[in-house]
Amino acid sequence: MKAYRDQHFLIDQRAVDRIADLVEIKNREVLEIGPGNGVLTKALLECGAVVHAIELDRELCNGLGEQFAKEIAAGKLTLIHGDATRCDLPPFSIVVSNLPYSISSKITFRLLNIGFEVAVLMYQSEFAKRMIAPAGTKDCGRLSIMVQTYATVQKCFELPPNCFSPKPQVHSMVVKLIPRPPIFFVKDHKRYADVARALFSHRRKTVKNCLKGSKGMLNPEWVDRVLTVLPNEILSSRPEELYLEDFATISNIE
Ligand code: SAM
Repeated sequence: MKAYRDQHFLIDQRAVDRIADLVEIKNREVLEIGPGNGVLTKALLECGAVVHAIELDRELCNGLGEQFAKEIAAGKLTLIHGDATRCDLPPFSIVVSNLPYSISSKITFRLLNIGFEVAVLMYQSEFAKRMIAPAGTKDCGRLSIMVQTYATVQKCFELPPNCFSPKPQVHSMVVKLIPRPPIFFVKDHKRYADVARALFSHRRKTVKNCLKGSKGMLNPEWVDRVLTVLPNEILSSRPEELYLEDFATISNIE
């Protein structure tokens, strides 16, 4: 059964401590998305972080307010009742979260857009594997391209379902994301993102046919120019066969 609001709570204290220890957080502003019953929040506070936690579930939020009343009064914890995909986010430089899996993609794009120093995030394993999948392999998708263009991704460790209550049906993986500028020239970041989106919305087609079918998403005149300029080697490939730089080669065309 799917848990309400992805509420699979970590019950393995060793796993909680390992997550909190993956990054130096003493006296740093840490964002936690989905604190749930506060098991990770407590570990982050014990490591000396100043925590800003956003929780969607009002009842859980009320419980956290009582559990951490002292830390809130001392200015060590700010508790926000809201949806992390859309509410205003407090200032932060580090993110440490056991993410609600249904918002993994949305929140990852949002965080990368806003910018941060380092993030330690727990995802569903399959999702994390797709994020890490190198360009040119069949698991690679829009998420892999966008994350790997703008960040270094490190796989930290995997957790089995019995680390949680209720048990999810899938394994989870903790990943470290460290944003950095692209390692190749990207002229227009919006167009780069639009090209990745357009190509992966038809991943089984060739790049040529993807582009022809994406004139609603991309400027049609620009697409016509791209089709005449782009080498046949790229035009005849499928999006999942392209290297990361190929997305820049396409989107950098004037
Ligand atoms: N951090 C806790 C732990 O490790 O045990 C709970 C993690 S649980 C996987 C995800 C939490 O995110 C739940 O408490 C859920 O209520 C909350 N949540 C779900 N959707 C959310 C959203 N859009 N914004 C903020 N919190 C959300």
